[in-house]
Amino acid sequence: MAQRTLIILKPDAVQRHLIGQIVSRFEQKGLKIVAAKFIQIPQDLARRHYAVHEGKPFFEGVVEYLASSPVLVMVLQADGVINMARKLMGKTFGNEAEPGTIRGDFGACRGYNLVHGSDSPESAAFEIGLYFKPEEIVDYTLADEDWLYGSNE
Ligand code: UDP
Ligand code: MG
Repeated sequence: MAQRTLIILKPDAVQRHLIGQIVSRFEQKGLKIVAAKFIQIPQDLARRHYAVHEGKPFFEGVVEYLASSPVLVMVLQADGVINMARKLMGKTFGNEAEPGTIRGDFGACRGYNLVHGSDSPESAAFEIGLYFKPEEIVDYTLADEDWLYGSNE
């Protein structure tokens, strides 16, 4: 099976009416959406999500941020999707991310940065399990998959 990653359109992306534009970036790249749900993340789930950052100075703030308002949570699937999604997102803070990236095009600060994406296969597996049951992930074939992913190399 192709690789999977967990993407969250964070509270500022939803509040700023950017869901469509941000999802488009991933769609245009050819990354397959295999699961999605619109939820408000409870505080305890936000803490588990960012558990690797527990004890760091920004931990309480980022937990508060993630749980502050609804989000769109998605699983994307493609070979190499973890790195591709991270590149599309750009550097962590909008005020440092390159233009052309999601954070670089839509963000201008450090506090809010629009989008989360898993950073390794291990964190992807852990994070997908936080939000989705196996049966909520839909494996299917896109009609243009041969054209998207090629088979000539
Ligand atoms: N964060 C923050 N201050 C920091 C580092 C991180 O507010 O100095 C927040 C930010 O929202 C970031 C999240 O904590 O997206 C997780 O940090 P990480 O280093 O994993 O960045 P990411 O993987 O999201 O680029
Ligand atoms: Mg991270």
